[in-house]
Parts: sequence; structure tokens; C-alpha cells
Amino acid sequence: MLLFKKTKDLQDYLAKAKKQGQRMGFVPTMGALHEGHMELIRRSAAENDLTICSIYVNPTQFNELSDLEKYPRTPEKDLLLLREVGSLIIFFPSDKEIYPDGPSNAPLIDLGHLNEVQEAAFRPGHFDGVVQVVHRLLSIVQPDRLYMGQKDYQQVLVIRELIRQKLPDTTLVMCPIVREADGLAMSSRNVRLDTGFRQKAPLIAATLETAAAQLPEKAIAEIKQEAIDKLNEAGFKTEYFEISNADTLLSVGQLSREADLVLSTAVWAGEVRLIDNLLVPINF
Ligand code: AMP
Repeated sequence: MLLFKKTKDLQDYLAKAKKQGQRMGFVPTMGALHEGHMELIRRSAAENDLTICSIYVNPTQFNELSDLEKYPRTPEKDLLLLREVGSLIIFFPSDKEIYPDGPSNAPLIDLGHLNEVQEAAFRPGHFDGVVQVVHRLLSIVQPDRLYMGQKDYQQVLVIRELIRQKLPDTTLVMCPIVREADGLAMSSRNVRLDTGFRQKAPLIAATLETAAAQLPEKAIAEIKQEAIDKLNEAGFKTEYFEISNADTLLSVGQLSREADLVLSTAVWAGEVRLIDNLLVPINF
């Protein structure tokens, strides 16, 4: 395992590896690593000669300062976990290495509708910050493949758009959601759940499953309302529960079997905001 803190040092190392024809996989993270992250890293390690994992809590994607301040940071534990993977390059930059001219979440590309719905509607500026940091990281690492989790499905669509517009030499690989045994999607934020909400949290995934199972027979508006009511009755505050075209994220009003669907939700569990989603293929 090699650890780089300076962009220039990492770039010099990677330039040599590239000259030797090594294929590179890249996994950007914000640290506080869990099995969800480790799956991405293992997949990249299995599919590439070299895997680079970045750990950087990007300030420009947090729309609330308190969320940035409370975001869990566990660098020593992260490095211990990463040691298990074997030959791995870790990039652990400071803000200055990523934003030499100061932090920015200025829109780099036009994301259209993707920057208006679901996460974008409730977290203004979030995806502009995500695009800024992923663009900068991809420009530094220049990987062959980029590994991201379905857990942040809208983010995957956003980065697919960034790659299409600006970095077409990188292939985006989306990895399935890794869940706790009771169904809760793994997230760095889960450690902040109090005991009560941790016990109730599997209801989020279960509600997505129930809604998907009802798709063939019930009206979509009814399915969504029932899901929201169920989550709110359990004590969550539901920001959205959407059923949309998995390619465009356009909300669907009625069931059509012409496109894959994605069911997505964001809820507040006390002070902690959780998101989850479920992909439903055309021929379900
Ligand atoms: P984060 O550190 O939260 O920015 O996540 C870094 C990467 O790990 C992103 O591509 C996430 O989508 C992915 N990820 C986070 N949690 C999970 C999970 N439970 N399953 C799969 N991928 C995940």
C-alpha cells in the first residue's frame, strides 16, 4: 500500500505505471470506510492492474455546514481496512491539493433535469460540488475505470453525464448496494443513528421492496403515498419517495414497461439523512 498526499507525487507515480501499460481503476470516497466502499475497491482490484482509492471529504458538496462538520472521519481505521486489500494506492489530499484556487461548487457542466429533482431539489448545489471534485480527481488520476456505488444512484447518473461531456476515455462501473444483514444500506452516516432509529432503519429498504412489488397492480401515485405514510408513521421525515425512469430520472405517472425504473427515497432519521433506492428492470 502506498499513500500519497501531494497531487504532483501521485501524478509522477501514476505516469510511470501508465508508461508500463498498467490499467487503472479509481474509487473516490469520503472515508469512514465500510463494506460498501470495500466492495468497490475489491472489484477494482480484481479488474485492473492498479487501484487508486481517494479519501477526501469534499466541502463543496455539503449544502449544510453542520453536516460537513459532523461527517465521520476515521483515517486510522480506514488505512487498517485498506491494508487488507494489498497493493493499493491511497490518495489522501488536503483541500489545497484539490482546490488550489479555493473551494468551488460553480457549475462545471449543464446537468439539466438531473440537477433539479430528488437529491438536487433538497440539496441545492450538491451535485455541482460533486462534479467539481470528481472532475478534479479524474483529471489527476486519469483512470481507465471509475467505480461508483448504486447507493448514490443519482450521483452515478450525474457522473455518467460528466464523463460523456468531458472525460470520455473513462469507463464508469456501477456496483450494487451493499446492505447490513437487516437490509439497511451501508452508509458512513449510519454510525450517527441513535438506537431507536437504527432499529427502525430497515423499514426504508423494506418500503422500497413493498412499493416495487405493488407496481403491477396499484396506481403509482397511490404506491408513493402509502410508502411516504408508512415511513412518516414510523417516525421518519420523508423528503421524497419517487418512482422514475432509471435512465433519465423523469418521474413516471403510470406503469410502462418501456424503461427500467428506479424507486428512490430520502428520509430524516432524527438528525441523520438517509437515502436508498431500488432498481426495477423492464421485465419484472
Ligand atoms: P462516499 O464515501 O459516501 O462518498 O462513497 C464513496 C463511494 O462508495 C460512492 O461511489 C458511493 O456510492 C459508494 N457507496 C457508499 N455506500 C455504499 C453501499 N452501501 N453500497 C455500495 N456502494 C456504496
